[in-house]
Amino acid sequence: MEPSINMPDTWDMEADIIVVGFGAAGVAAAVTAHELGADALILEKAPEGQEGGNTRVAGQGYLNTSSADSAIAYLTALCGPYTVPETMIRVWADEMGKNNDWLTSVGGDPQEHQHPPMGIEFPDLPGSDCVHKFHDGPTYGYSYTWFRFESLVKERSIRVCYETPGRSLIQNGATGEIVGVRAEQDGREICVKARKGVVLTCGGFENNQQMIQDYLGLPYCYTSGSPYNEGDGVSMAMAVGADLWHMNNFAGPSMALKVPDCPTTFSMQALHYSKEPAGGMIVVGPDGRRFTDEKFKTRHGKIPGNGTWKAMPTPCPMHMIFDDTMMSSGPLYDGEPSHGWTQVVERPEWSDDNSAELKKGWIKKSDTLAGLAESIGIDPGVLTDSVERWNRDVDAGADTEFGRTLMFEGVRQGPFYAMELSPSMLNTQGGPRRNEKAQIVRPDGAPIPRLYSAGELGSIYSYLYQGTGNIGECLAFGRIAARNVVAETPLN
Ligand SMILES: Cc1cc2nc3c(=O)[nH]c(=O)nc-3n(C[C@H](O)[C@H](O)[C@H](O)COP(=O)(O)OP(=O)(O)OC[C@H]3O[C@@H](n4cnc5c(N)ncnc54)[C@H](O)[C@@H]3O)c2cc1C
Repeated sequence: MEPSINMPDTWDMEADIIVVGFGAAGVAAAVTAHELGADALILEKAPEGQEGGNTRVAGQGYLNTSSADSAIAYLTALCGPYTVPETMIRVWADEMGKNNDWLTSVGGDPQEHQHPPMGIEFPDLPGSDCVHKFHDGPTYGYSYTWFRFESLVKERSIRVCYETPGRSLIQNGATGEIVGVRAEQDGREICVKARKGVVLTCGGFENNQQMIQDYLGLPYCYTSGSPYNEGDGVSMAMAVGADLWHMNNFAGPSMALKVPDCPTTFSMQALHYSKEPAGGMIVVGPDGRRFTDEKFKTRHGKIPGNGTWKAMPTPCPMHMIFDDTMMSSGPLYDGEPSHGWTQVVERPEWSDDNSAELKKGWIKKSDTLAGLAESIGIDPGVLTDSVERWNRDVDAGADTEFGRTLMFEGVRQGPFYAMELSPSMLNTQGGPRRNEKAQIVRPDGAPIPRLYSAGELGSIYSYLYQGTGNIGECLAFGRIAARNVVAETPLN
């Protein structure tokens, strides 16, 4: 590439460090850079009030590992056969154990999570005693930890440009250095110069259906998280020669309702392992057959099988088939009260007796199973057989197909109902490959000069995931990225 091809004649703005994306990773990078005396600028795609990405809508916990040795063992075990270089694991383990100290040092208030106690996702793996989950401040839930993170930026008057999505990286054709970002603001292109470097913290590709098809092996999948994460960082990094990693790993799938009126998914009470509404329910694939234990407590979408863990199958389209006892027992939607998405996404109200959803066609109804099957395009004989088999298993006291024990009730009381379900996820883990300095690297392992990343964009999670580990990693690698950018020699 010739230097002149990509280099703008003039710059609209400049800073020492340009942080692309205002979530937890962006906060950790910008605040750390600021504490080290650098001038940071955040570019954020969402309008003011909707920033924060998945961090804002998350469960608000972050991981602070307790012992570096245990953390090394546990984090290594989480990778299973999908190895991550030992140097990365060491840095990850060391830095994750400093999250509380860092948050305290910048004015936060770490509190150990009591909900649920400990929450070790894989207690049998070596080193699992390192897991300690924290949130900020006395109140757990909603967006409280996020609000603290956000205030750290605001208190320091770090500049944030809202509604200014990064579109591409500006690369010096002669040196390969990343010297700025082309962004969009008020419908026009602006060029923002990075005197020391750029940190991509713009989240995953949860809302990019093409990338979901290409990388997750699913025909479609939706998120319960922020609608603004569209894989922009993946494309931006690829365009300047980045390698990718962990593209097929994601925190999912679960099964949820997706309707055109809303970009994010609705989770159902009946499909949550901890909820037991009255009535009978099974989920079937397009062949009319069950394919999993519908109530299994997956580990962020993974289920055990043949001595390993694999993504729960989600043959699309899937339908939840349920009876009138369940339909009459209260709202099917579980309300997700602790998540702050209501600030980001307008959600239609869910009616107390599910009648509005029936009227909208989100739920189909028929007096007979055969009629229900026809209305959803499934062979009536097969669906009837699946329900009868389930009912026989309930009568006999054992699910002979998948060993389900929870909400073990027959689907008996007509009329019968069907709801189409889609695969849903919290977040993707893949993106540009990074090294232990948080530098984005090329396929040959060489860093792309002055380009860094943190957070779920190219997360370190290659296989299994420990809850609260994403935000834990955001904080750790956000700080690592900022320290290394600040150490760069400034451009003229
Ligand atoms: C419902 C839910 C619950 C979860 N609970 C937890 C939990 O309790 N603990 C945990 O550790 N993890 C949890 N996770 C996962 C975790 O929230 C995310 O992985 C983590 O917050 C990602 O942080 P981030 O900073 O990398 O990205 P995000 O927080 O998603 O921030 C990315 C930001 O970049 C912006 N952006 C996108 N594209 C551009 C662009 N082109 N230019 C500029 N800005 C852009 C977005 O608008 C967004 O503000 C949960 C996820 C969900 C969805």
